Amino acid sequence: MPLSTYSQAAGDAARSFADFAGGLISPTVKLGVTGLARSGKTVFITALVHNLMARARLPFFDAAAQGRLVRAYLEPQPDAFVARFPFEKHLADLTGNPPFWPESTRRISQLRLTIDYSSTKFWKRQLGREALHIDIVDYPGEWLLDLPLLSLDYRTWSRSALEESAKPGRKKAARLFHASLGLVDPSDPSDEAVAERLSDLFKTYLREARSDPSALSTLPPGRFLMPGDLAGSPALTFAPLDARGIEQFPRNSLWAMMEGRYEAYKTYVVRPFFRDHFARLDRQIVLIDVLAALNGGAAAMADLERAMTEILECFRTGSNSLWSNLFGPRIDRVVLAATKADHLHHQSHDRLEDILAKIANRAMDRLVYTGAQVKVLALAAIRATREGEARRGGERLPCIVGYPLPGETIGRRRFDGNEEFAIFPGDLPANPEAALRGWQIEQGEMRFVRFRPPNPVRLPSGGFAPFPNIRLDRAIETLIGDCLA
Ligand code: GDP
Repeated sequence: MPLSTYSQAAGDAARSFADFAGGLISPTVKLGVTGLARSGKTVFITALVHNLMARARLPFFDAAAQGRLVRAYLEPQPDAFVARFPFEKHLADLTGNPPFWPESTRRISQLRLTIDYSSTKFWKRQLGREALHIDIVDYPGEWLLDLPLLSLDYRTWSRSALEESAKPGRKKAARLFHASLGLVDPSDPSDEAVAERLSDLFKTYLREARSDPSALSTLPPGRFLMPGDLAGSPALTFAPLDARGIEQFPRNSLWAMMEGRYEAYKTYVVRPFFRDHFARLDRQIVLIDVLAALNGGAAAMADLERAMTEILECFRTGSNSLWSNLFGPRIDRVVLAATKADHLHHQSHDRLEDILAKIANRAMDRLVYTGAQVKVLALAAIRATREGEARRGGERLPCIVGYPLPGETIGRRRFDGNEEFAIFPGDLPANPEAALRGWQIEQGEMRFVRFRPPNPVRLPSGGFAPFPNIRLDRAIETLIGDCLA
């Protein structure tokens, strides 16, 4: 069932009563927005809310295109224990002088947007006011990668984490962790300082593996990369150990200490997140920086596919799914969106979508996927570029024009952020298979730089005009269009 109501949401009883009393029971759709770090979650939510509140022209969002949106406004969120998404602060950053990109997602947060609308259905119109609450839940995609841990004991996880860390692309990042691991005996008495050192070095390795542009490995535990409010807590102070063939460890050993913390992480961090937040979502958008992976080459694309498989596992239902056996899944629609499409000329937007669809299909084949309906899109929540043409020799090249951020480079050219440049980003391959093989590295053709946000446009009536975007309306229609029919 796509819609949840107040009465279904645990902890909302008091509010439910108030709404009943006022005769205002309105359906609520809980919309999850996730993606790995810097995939574009903060920008997407800010643009989505601003577009709806400012009644932007959204031709592919039926309720808006048909003139049925009455108004959209923010309301206090029902969940008192989740931080509020700081929409106003992010909008102020984006509309500043000069405008700058807001601070990225680091923890879970929530925002309630209510839409008053006119239904297409006669009987619904007779009931008076029609309103839909959209509870937008922003959370780091890294946390989804923890789902497999729930079925792994410490010994099995340690073995696989150490195997991963010894793979050629990661060995360098893991060298200090390996060196330190070689000095400890897991049978030794537990020692807080040793646990902390190992855990810190393990986290450094995970972060380095993640930031290597040619690999972009994203490995669990997810909170080691995105701790949220738990940074430094004991549940996050563990690391894999080498059992060295030993079957049993003393109760006071380093092994037992690490094992206890790993289990605590599963019980007190991973499980509550899936049960209290993820399981209550109705719809989900997963934002993916496909262009960053394309820039990284074949290894980065392979890692993206691996991360995608793990993320899609969370939306799989059926008797053989880990997730649906543990929690009652509710999400019935998932949008996978390749973000920052404004880094490409529009001729390549469909190709970007095709590449993402190819990765998603391969991941779904591997999982023998059945579950929430999955749709694929390429979008730019905020379009920081416009399109133009440049001439090279006698050739006309389709370009994108914008202000590259200070410090960005193309070849030997370094940008200072003050000048507008026309950049020929290259065309994506017509055959998405080629992209998966690291096509652009061989061709040396793709050029992506980060751009400054567009200049804000002040409206005579006050406030700012909605930002230009690419296909944001299609994303909104796919995610909530049916709830406003
Ligand atoms: P988060 O970590 O998922 O919250 O990522 P953000 O939303 O903070 O985005 C990270 C960065 O990606 C931003 O600072 C921008 O530089 C860039 N970005 C995100 N969305 C867009 C977009 O629609 N267009 C462009 N050009 N850049 C974007």
